[in-house]
Order: sequence, then C-alpha cells, then structure tokens
Amino acid sequence: MKINADFHIHSRFSRACSTNINPYNIEDTAFNKGINVIGTGDFTHPLWLKEIMENLEPSKDHQGLFKLKNSSRKIWFILSVEVATIQEENGRSKRIHHVVMLPDFESVDSLNNIISKFGNLSSDGRPQLTISADHFVEEVFKVNRNAFVFPAHIWTPFFGALGATTGFNSIKDVYKDQEKHIFALETGLSSDPPMNWLISELDKYTLISNSDMHSLPKMGREMNLFEIDEKDLSYNSIVNAIKEKDSKKLKKTIEFFPEEGKYHFDGHRQCSVSINPETEHIKICPICGKKVVIGVLHRIIDLADRPVNYIPKDAIPYQHLVPLAEVISYAIKKSSSSQAVAKEYNKLILKFNTEFNILVNVDIEKIEENSSKEIAESISNVRNNKVTIIPGYDGVFGKIDLLNEEKPKPAFWKQKRL
Ligand SMILES: [Zn+2]
Ligand SMILES: [Zn+2]
Ligand SMILES: [Zn+2]
Repeated sequence: MKINADFHIHSRFSRACSTNINPYNIEDTAFNKGINVIGTGDFTHPLWLKEIMENLEPSKDHQGLFKLKNSSRKIWFILSVEVATIQEENGRSKRIHHVVMLPDFESVDSLNNIISKFGNLSSDGRPQLTISADHFVEEVFKVNRNAFVFPAHIWTPFFGALGATTGFNSIKDVYKDQEKHIFALETGLSSDPPMNWLISELDKYTLISNSDMHSLPKMGREMNLFEIDEKDLSYNSIVNAIKEKDSKKLKKTIEFFPEEGKYHFDGHRQCSVSINPETEHIKICPICGKKVVIGVLHRIIDLADRPVNYIPKDAIPYQHLVPLAEVISYAIKKSSSSQAVAKEYNKLILKFNTEFNILVNVDIEKIEENSSKEIAESISNVRNNKVTIIPGYDGVFGKIDLLNEEKPKPAFWKQKRL
C-alpha cells in the first residue's frame, strides 16, 4: 500500500497556528490531500494531549498508530511533537528544534513528566526546554527505546542543528554520545536532497521531509512516500524503513523547491537585501550596516565536500511539488485563501479525489478540461521543474512563477546602487 506520511505538524496550541487545527479537521485535510499517516504534533501540551486522547484510539491492526474514533478512512495518526532545546555552549546560547515520535500514550505521559522539569509545557505546543540536545535525547530513550528522534529543519539559521546561528558543523557535535540514536534528518523547506548530498558526512542519515504546518492548507507540502504492505503497517515498520534507509519501503520524499523556502539565500528582510552566497560574500547589510542572516545555501556551501550534482548510491529519490492551492492562486491571480481559489480547489478534489493525485498523477489534459489552461500548465511546469523562482531570504518566502512570466529582478539594493 502507498503510504504518504507527514510527521511534523503543529496543533492550535503552538504559537502562531490556526485556531481550527483539531483532530477532525486534521483527518479531513489529510483525506483531501492524500495523506495516510499524519503526526499529531504537540503531544507535550496538556490540553492538546487531552484532546487527542479523547478523540483517537489505538489502531487494532496497526500497532503504534492511532485512528480517529468512528472513522473508517485509511488515515492513521502517529504521536509526535517538536521541542526546542536551549543550551549554553562556549558562552553562546544554542537553540535547536527536534521532532520526537512515540508509539503509545503511556510513553508520552512518562516523557512529559520528565521534561516538565526543564520547561513549561503549557505555554506553547512546541515547548522550550532548558536542557542540552544530548541530555534530551537520552531522556527520551530512557522512556521508550522504540522512540524516534530527528533534528527538525536542520539548516534554518536560528533553530536548525546545522544552521548558521546554532553554529554546529556536524550532527555528532550536536548530540554527542547520543548521536547513536539519530538516524534521520529533516531537510526543511529551504533545502532539498541534492543540496544535502553534497556533504559526505550526512550519507549515514536518511533525509526526510515534513510540512511543519502551522495551518491546515500547508499539510503535506513536504512529506515522505512509503510503500508498505497494509498488513505490515505499524509504527515500527515506518520507523524501521527510515532507520534502514530502505528504498523498497521509503520510496521518495516530496519537497518544496528549496529557493521557495524562507531562508534559502542570505539577506536582511528589513532592507529587502537578498544575497546569493554562491556569487556574493556579503556579511554586512549594505543598506543598514547590520549583520545579514546567513541562509541555508550558504551553510551547505560551507560544509560541502563534493561537487554539485553528486548523487550518493543509496540516495532516496525526491520530487518537487507546489501545494495545489498555491498553484491555483498563481494561475487565477487571487490570494490562496480566497473563495475563488477554494472553489476551484474543491471542484478538482471532487473530481480527482486527492490533491496528491492531481499534482502527480492526473493527465494534464484532464486537469485542463476540469479547470483552466493556466492551472493545467502550471501543474505541468511544476512536474517538469520548469518554474522561475526568486529565492527567499531572512524569513521572506521565495516567489515562485509557475508560468515563467517574470524574469528575476536584481535585488532592491542593487537596483538602488545602479
Ligand atoms: Zn522548528
Ligand atoms: Zn515545527
Ligand atoms: Zn539591512
């Protein structure tokens, strides 16, 4: 059975998240998106934990996974959370985000009991814990040796394990002797597998991708595609496929175009300064004189020890996609949260079942018959990697041009200089 899985999401109890994220809406969205396994997110938050305990029940046939009560859909929940650890090292405070998955509520309870000593679990669905990354992982595995932990969006400047501000240059430096428990890395929106393949030290890890959604429409914008016999589907079979980097089971990851991510280039948002680290070595903002934020591409160039286009022999394939609502929004020139986009989106889902099916499988001619030439052409361009992107930087999302109508303009500060 094909299993599309998104492990890292947030509930409405995480900062800056939509108020409509509840178990029913999560399941409904997963159904329309074509997602079969979805993280619960935020299991450390007391109110969210209560809500998922009330609304989910253990799946009878699939150990370690959970179903929405009274639902017959083939959608399973996996208990997950993202936490931030904060540690002092060499006089610098380092914050790192990690995702934890566990197979049962008893382990969740035990873990919450332990880590509540290190931070307030009620204040944010993604709690901030004053504990070192290695100590945190040690505590998780004391609770359950089948736990699964991976660093989240490893390259982002402020909270990524290898990000510029965090300042670690290797996963071993982050997790020390507990690195033995780390098998996977989340590449984040601003990097894709080919960028990560340039660093030989990362070969031992499985690269995975998740949406890190803060609102339902973003679910599955990055995810992992598995092929697992339905009778074998369980928490363990999923985790083992990742741990073993088993390409017969973990078939592919779905990726953002990395340029679209918020931290692809270096830059300074306040001054609209965007810097391509491949060609420009600028550490100080030419407008205001402050330090620029070093992005994901820059970090990867710093750590790369291989030529561009290198593919490791056991690499898991990947595919770039753009969420359907964004595609429609682009094609009809209306905001992605507009009624017009919702109407077109629902019409296509009704016809072709899932967003994933539309983006990946349905014939372009059929899409055109049921929508418009622009929507069909945009989807075709995404499938063929024929899009123009103005890269994101310092928290500004990249701008994607699905019909290649625009030529990337020079950055604002350069226009000014000319
Ligand atoms: Zn995070
Ligand atoms: Zn997150
Ligand atoms: Zn500036």
